[in-house]
Amino acid sequence: MSELSIWHPFTQDAVDPAPIAIERAEGVYLYTADGRRLIDAISSWWVNLHGHAHPLIADAIARQARELEHVIFAGFTHQSAEELVRRLKPFLPPSIEHIFFSDDGSTAVEVAIKMAVQYWWNQGRHEKCKLVALDHAYHGDTFGAMSVGDDGAFVEPFNSLRFPVWRVPSAYCFRCPVGEERATCKIDCVEPLAQLLEEKHGEIAAVIVEPLLQAAGGMIAHPVEFLERIRKLCTEHNVLLIADEVLTGFGRCGRMFASELAGVAPDIMCLSKGLTGGFLPLGATVCTSAIREVFRSRDRTRTFFHGHSYTGNPLACAAGIASLQIFESEPVFERIAGIEQIHAERLPSLKNHPAVADVRSIGTVAALELDAEDAGYLSDLRPFLYNFFLGKGVLLRPLGNIVYVLPPYAITPSELHFVYDVITEALDSLPAR
Ligand code: PLP
Repeated sequence: MSELSIWHPFTQDAVDPAPIAIERAEGVYLYTADGRRLIDAISSWWVNLHGHAHPLIADAIARQARELEHVIFAGFTHQSAEELVRRLKPFLPPSIEHIFFSDDGSTAVEVAIKMAVQYWWNQGRHEKCKLVALDHAYHGDTFGAMSVGDDGAFVEPFNSLRFPVWRVPSAYCFRCPVGEERATCKIDCVEPLAQLLEEKHGEIAAVIVEPLLQAAGGMIAHPVEFLERIRKLCTEHNVLLIADEVLTGFGRCGRMFASELAGVAPDIMCLSKGLTGGFLPLGATVCTSAIREVFRSRDRTRTFFHGHSYTGNPLACAAGIASLQIFESEPVFERIAGIEQIHAERLPSLKNHPAVADVRSIGTVAALELDAEDAGYLSDLRPFLYNFFLGKGVLLRPLGNIVYVLPPYAITPSELHFVYDVITEALDSLPAR
């Protein structure tokens, strides 16, 4: 053991296998130090878009490193940030006109929360400071993000420090929170939010959602009408809508941003993960001019006093530019459509498997909810399946009893079919329950 032993995230040494050393990666493959090759079917915690070590992004970072590796972003700017923003703008809703950089998904969420609260504060509305979040939400591991995230094992030790939020049902159709059937329902699950906004809008700064797909909470895909209704309610009640597109952004749900699928323009959007193609950490919180304007003043107390050392890092911005160039130079949305098609081909037969309770998919993301008495993140199914998949050369990391596929867009049809074959084999190998 080295003198400074590495403490890996989300890892319990006593029960989890030792970390696997990866020497290099290319396309969808991770190459292990002991000579194995693994398909990265979860895009390395949902960040990778175009495959590992894509030469265009690697070269862009190397070029940038020789010119300007980093510079303070308060009072300074650089070509790399300016160009990234120029290239990003056309993909965003037209009403989104400002961007604030940070470091990762969690900090993009922290910025969104603080921006929303201070938006009202700067207008003298100090009482309009509460947040509304959904059941099953996950927005990151920092304190603001943990507060808007749902209760559970991840955050329990910190409950006394999480700020209170109002929580409302999510459109988890398989386990409908209001006992309806999707085929006949009128998105009745949004009613508690409607009522809360009606009664408390004067105290509410913003509603925060993962648009159309709650990821860590169980890969729960929502009907587009759910998001449409939330947008309408926020507008009616003068409450900001924050869309956390940290996972759903950059094509993951079939369009550049999931909000687009519902024709919805949020007031604030959080971006990260795929923003750099999965090469470097970078967060961004984008917002409307209506929000930006209330921070402009000769009164310095209205300043947004938030900034991280590596804000707007040029290397990360260069990776982001190259990733967006790949969207133009390679058939990325055709690849995405191809992945969607294979999900649509393979999921129906898996739905009939005796171990499977539900299947769902949106864009490039597919999920199987398995029957389990201990359903939830800490389900015993998870270690069995994780090790099974690795043994077959596939990195899949179930969320408890939820097995999901979230591949880099560069995965080929035969590789994705192989992933599904391995999942089928795993389900057949499950001990009878
Ligand atoms: N928001 C969502 C929707 C996420 O899925 C995640 C991470 O998985 C985060 C925020 C936090 O991002 P990060 O891990 O980069 O801090």
